[in-house]
Amino acid sequence: MTRWLMLSGFLWLMVALSGCVDERIRFDDAVLVLKDVTVIDGTGQPPLPEQTVVVREDRIVAIGKAGDFVFGDAAEVLDLPGRYLLPGFIDMHAHVTILPGEDGRLIPHYDRAASEQVLRTLMAFGVTTARNPAAPTADGVELREAVAGGEVLGPRIFTAGTVLDRGTRPFGPFVATPTEEAVREEVQKQAAAGVDFIKVYAGLPPRLVEVAVEEAHAHGLRVIGHMQRTTWTDAARFGIDAITHGAPWSPEYLDEGPRAGYRPTMKGRIYWLENLDLDGPQIEEMLTALAENNVTIDPTLIAYHTKFWGDDPRYLNHPEHHLAPAMIVEGWRQGTFTFDWTGDDYTRAKAAWPKVLGLTKRLFDRGILLTAGSDLPNPWVIPGVSFHEELQLLADAGIPPLDVLQIATANGARALGIDAEAGTIEVGKRADLVVLAANPIDDIRNTRSIEWVMLGGVAFKPERLLAE
Ligand SMILES: [Zn+2]
Repeated sequence: MTRWLMLSGFLWLMVALSGCVDERIRFDDAVLVLKDVTVIDGTGQPPLPEQTVVVREDRIVAIGKAGDFVFGDAAEVLDLPGRYLLPGFIDMHAHVTILPGEDGRLIPHYDRAASEQVLRTLMAFGVTTARNPAAPTADGVELREAVAGGEVLGPRIFTAGTVLDRGTRPFGPFVATPTEEAVREEVQKQAAAGVDFIKVYAGLPPRLVEVAVEEAHAHGLRVIGHMQRTTWTDAARFGIDAITHGAPWSPEYLDEGPRAGYRPTMKGRIYWLENLDLDGPQIEEMLTALAENNVTIDPTLIAYHTKFWGDDPRYLNHPEHHLAPAMIVEGWRQGTFTFDWTGDDYTRAKAAWPKVLGLTKRLFDRGILLTAGSDLPNPWVIPGVSFHEELQLLADAGIPPLDVLQIATANGARALGIDAEAGTIEVGKRADLVVLAANPIDDIRNTRSIEWVMLGGVAFKPERLLAE
């Protein structure tokens, strides 16, 4: 497509040169023209003012100054002075196959209508690609295909199947894989079912994580881990591709003294942080292992902030709860992971929060590829809304806004292995784009000032998506 365009432009130029001196590239067909916009292209380079971006079908076919081009009547032109054009956002931790709860457990089959609502909401908030990090295997693949086939409107989905863990858990789609054979069989089953990657969970011991990585890679599948029993350091050395969440919480990262007093519960995480030496040898060794093995990290800071501030009206009475399916919000009201925390626990957790941000900043400073994920629909994590809260928390960690925007776009594409065709604004890439009314470099909260979302070259108004 791109080559053809260049060739046709060239031929036209030859014709033009024989008669006159007009060197402008002519588009007579039905292109979408985004005119006079400031481009923040996701590569990390500074914003480029007064750009005109030409989209044909689902691709970006030209980028230049408005005067470089001539458009025919079939072109649709959006004049965008004062606006900012970014690649579509990639939520790398979005449980988009919504499982309803019953008696404190999640039903192992997804609610299609609730899932469709979540997908539309994500789009309205500029998310054009989502990594679904756990799903009943058949459901995850079915929803992905429904979106890919145009049957359901939503971000492009890359999905895991059922999560591999030592035992099962009450709050999600888990499969018990207590032996090497069980791990291999489950990976083979999911590969045959068509998942995009394998997810391994907190209770898997090192040897089983190693086997999962080996088996998945043999099937051409990446592995992402929510690790705890196996340290991030070991998982990195086994060749895991991605680790999700903001801290490993493994006892191995504490010095011997405090390690003895550590209980690996949700409340125990406060103690873990209080006793963690961010500049100690264990964390240093971990950072080195992650960097050397090119592991990407998806901190999902918002999934922790909502726990540490789980007593705060900003989350309990968030004005945008209506954007999450009602049954989900009802579930949050019935109980969260911090149900047993006292006022004192919350106070201590908030005091320890800078260590979570400090760990994220150290990952960033070490050049480890970070991505942005919300972990919707964990308690108080609202589809779309929370993705932008995540960007704010990454900025709070001390990451400059331009880098946060790269984390939210290009880095996600790299971690998914789709960077050849998505994640940045470049000729030949998919036209998954977001138009902002205000500058996100001035204030990262401006990522919410969305005027248009483009998915594969089709433009949508956020308010229309939310109204449906
Ligand atoms: Zn999750």
